[in-house]
Parts: sequence; structure tokens; C-alpha cells
Amino acid sequence: MLNNLQSTVELNNGVKMPWVGLGVFKVKDGSEAANAVTTAIKNGYRSIDTAFVYKNEEGVGQGIKEGLKATGLSRKDLFVTSKVWNSDQGYDTTLKAYDDSLKRLGLDYLDLYLIHWPVAGKYKDTWRALETLYKEKKVRTIGVSNFHVHHLEDLLKDAEIVPAINQVEFHPRLAQIDLRHFCKKQGIQFEAWSPLMQGGLFDNAILKEIAEKHGKSVAQVIIRWDLQNGVITIPKSIKEHRIIENSNVFDFTLTKEDLEQIASLNEDSRVGSNPDTFNF
Ligand code: NAD
Repeated sequence: MLNNLQSTVELNNGVKMPWVGLGVFKVKDGSEAANAVTTAIKNGYRSIDTAFVYKNEEGVGQGIKEGLKATGLSRKDLFVTSKVWNSDQGYDTTLKAYDDSLKRLGLDYLDLYLIHWPVAGKYKDTWRALETLYKEKKVRTIGVSNFHVHHLEDLLKDAEIVPAINQVEFHPRLAQIDLRHFCKKQGIQFEAWSPLMQGGLFDNAILKEIAEKHGKSVAQVIIRWDLQNGVITIPKSIKEHRIIENSNVFDFTLTKEDLEQIASLNEDSRVGSNPDTFNF
């Protein structure tokens, strides 16, 4: 059921993940990250998405601690994601990177650990390390990010465990139709990064019209569009009123016509790098 911020989807290993979470890319370490995370938890968010490369795991960890204290929730009520960075890929280096992320976050397990990008020649060893962490029950779920269909096909040839998640750029300008179809067939839950296209869609006339009709903001329409497409979403904000706004998406439904109009915006265009040509 999709009722509120605590609503979850069951992943392919039975673990439940909230449909909506807070993203913290470009959020500064220290009080900025801590405040954003605490604010989100106090306002009902249960899922936080960070990564080693965001360099804010310590602040996020602090925010988790403060958020739990303020709400009386416990660690198991939250769903925390981090990602292994490209320069740490490989078997032993990934095992170490995971431990280091845990230390910075001040946690003793993650709910989800992702391969951040498909580094050629390395991502299979990295995946074996994630499988080890999973089998040793050090992490509840493992997945990938920025994998195209051909990366997934290649990984699946050798994988013992099918990734639970593929987190990729997804918004009305990049509808990822083939990749979504492939993931669905394989039981890999699709998750959107830059769902709001990093702010690039707020002036779009079609989205504005749909938003006005429902008495909602463009951000809310896009987040709702994710949910109605069965896509987990992690919009980023550090401002309390936007953190709250982005969570108020459970009291309206986009019509078939709305969905068709939004589908017409797809241009297969990206704000981030293409996983076939990234150079970092
Ligand atoms: P986003 O699409 O979530 O957009 C964020 C921007 O929109 C910010 O500038 C924010 O101030 C603004 N915004 C948010 N809510 C708003 C609202 N209601 N009204 C007006 N403006 C609003 O961009 P993002 O941060 O790139 O993506 C979300 C998250 O996805 C990241 O924080 C990160 O956790 C994750 N991510 C992952 C990868 C990856 O490679 N796996 C890459 C990029 C981002």
C-alpha cells in the first residue's frame, strides 16, 4: 500500500524499502547534513541515501543519531543506503570501504550498499565483495547504481545474488523505458536519482499545468509520477519546507491523461553522466 512516507516495497530478498527517501548529494558534511537528516526523520522520512563520495557520511550519521533521539525511533526503523566509490572497487578494497563507511556513519550495518558506477574490469569483483558482506549478514541488501541493461546482463552471468536495486538517473526527460522493463523482468527494483532533474523541470509548462490542476507543486507531481511508475525516489533538499513538500504526495493521483502527458516529455536526456562514457 502506498499511504505515507513509511510505505514500503518488498525487494527481491524480502527486505522492505520505503518508496520515498531523502537524498543528500552535494549536502555539506557537518551540521548541514546532520540537520537535513534530522529534519527528514522528524517529518516522517525513514530512508536516507548517501555515498562515500558525497563526503558527508559523518554528518549523516550524526543526523541519524539526533533524529532517532528526537523521535524515539530505533535504528531498525530506518533504511540507510551508501555506495562504494569507483576508486575503492575490487574485492578487498570494497570490503574495507564498507567498514570505513560504517565507521563514519557510526552504524553497525547498512540496509543497502550499492556499486556506485559500473567500473569496467572491476564491478564483478566488487559485486563478489558485496555478496560476501551480504552472506556474512553485515548488510541487509545489495544492489547496483548506474547499470545499463548490458552491464546487468554481464553481471548476472557470474552473480550468485541478483541485485535488489538499480539506482539510476530517472525523471520525465529520461524515462529509461528499456532499462525499467529489463529490471522488472529480473526482479530488480528500480530507484530514481535526480528525480527532480536537479531543478531543471520546475518551469515546464505541461508539469505546471498538471500541478495546478491537482493543487500541487511540480516537485510533488514528479515524485508522484515516480510512485505511480513503481519507482523508488530520493529527492534531495536541505530546507524543511521542501523536505515536507516532497513528502506530501500520498493524497492525490495522477490520471491516465496526466501520465500520458508526462510520458511525452521523454527526450532520453541526462543531467548526469552516461554509464557508458563516464570518466571518473
Ligand atoms: P534532485 O533531482 O533531487 O534535485 C535536487 C534539487 O532540487 C536541489 O537543488 C533542491 O534544492 C531542489 N528541490 C528539491 N525539492 C524541491 C522543491 N520541492 N521545490 C523546489 N526545489 C526543490 O537532485 P539530486 O540531489 O541530484 O538527486 C537526488 C538524490 O539522488 C541525491 O541527493 C543522491 O542521494 C542521489 N544521487 C545518486 C546518484 C548516483 O550516481 N547513484 C547521482 C546523483 C544523485
